[in-house]
Amino acid sequence: MSKVAIRSVQKSFGANTVVRDFDLTIGEGEFISLLGPSGCGKTTVLRMVAGFETPTRGTIEIDGQDVTAQRPNQRKIGMMFQSYALFPNLTVAGNVGFGLKVAGLPREKIAARVDEMLATVGLKGFGARYPYQLSGGQQQRVALARAIAPQPRVLLLDEPLSALDAKIRVSLRAEIRAIQRQLGISTLFVTHDQEEAMAMSDRVVVMTGGKADQVGTPAEIYSRPATRFVAEFIGALNVLQGVVTDPANGQIDTAAGPVQLGRPVPRDRGAALALGIRPEGLRLVNGADPEGPLFIGRLVSRDFLGPIIRLRAQTEGGTPLVVDCFNRDGADLPQPGAPIRLTVRPEEVVLLD
Ligand code: ADP
Ligand code: MG
Repeated sequence: MSKVAIRSVQKSFGANTVVRDFDLTIGEGEFISLLGPSGCGKTTVLRMVAGFETPTRGTIEIDGQDVTAQRPNQRKIGMMFQSYALFPNLTVAGNVGFGLKVAGLPREKIAARVDEMLATVGLKGFGARYPYQLSGGQQQRVALARAIAPQPRVLLLDEPLSALDAKIRVSLRAEIRAIQRQLGISTLFVTHDQEEAMAMSDRVVVMTGGKADQVGTPAEIYSRPATRFVAEFIGALNVLQGVVTDPANGQIDTAAGPVQLGRPVPRDRGAALALGIRPEGLRLVNGADPEGPLFIGRLVSRDFLGPIIRLRAQTEGGTPLVVDCFNRDGADLPQPGAPIRLTVRPEEVVLLD
């Protein structure tokens, strides 16, 4: 049984439908991210699971029970937001123990649980401090401890890292994921940062315009994007416009040159289509012509990015191509202005709708 089931949910504010046809199940202990641009409906989905918004249509189940009509405090859910939202007049211990106090736990039990939670988030001994005495990262750890202290059934996190510095964001990413794994708590995480979603999640839901475009593991979303939006939102992408010349064998004429996929494409002869190739999918051809596609052009620029070197090339037909090479290959790379020949393995070419 899934931990959470969101079934055919729609949410409209007046005439404005901001979430539509939304289906998602979260497995026991699973970490799922809602990923998409600002305004695509991520927070609204989260708020419906929490009970702060009521779906216009559809149902939400937790542990197999329909909770659509339940109020937030009946749902046993833990939440954490972008703004730390700690009670400024309460100590760290007061903040972490807040939900337990509301639940009527005896004082000794609260104290023991608060200590346990502070140890879990790496803030042992911080109980007597006040929020203003803590860094942003520490405040978010307190917010996490407060969210998990009452042993919620589900953890909902709305861009909890977005307000933090890049370095802290990346280290807290790993910490949240480790704590979530340790507790085995089913988690729905909202972010507009694709790298964050890919790094943390068991599965990612890519959203646009209130709908889920694709649900899949980070690897599936990256290598087999279901739509052009997903392909372009997740990482860099070269897009080649083309025309199908032989659907059965996957022959496509593009401005960069002919591409032979060696597999059927579900299009008619003469149909226009777009192909997507990741920058690391393109390879330099140094010797004999490759069996696969050959793109001929000139190197425009070479950017040193540390682990990789990013090449910008232009084909004879004027198509720009971005190519990522590992830094250790640097010695063999052409200089800007030099001719360049590139190829790609057919399985690394994605059909875009
Ligand atoms: P995201 O979290 O992906 O940025 P939201 O879920 O916050 O997106 O918002 C989705 C859309 O719903 C936006 O266009 C927003 O303006 C609208 N919206 C959100 N909450 C309300 C509300 N209470 N009343 C009216 N419109 C809302
Ligand atoms: Mg939001």
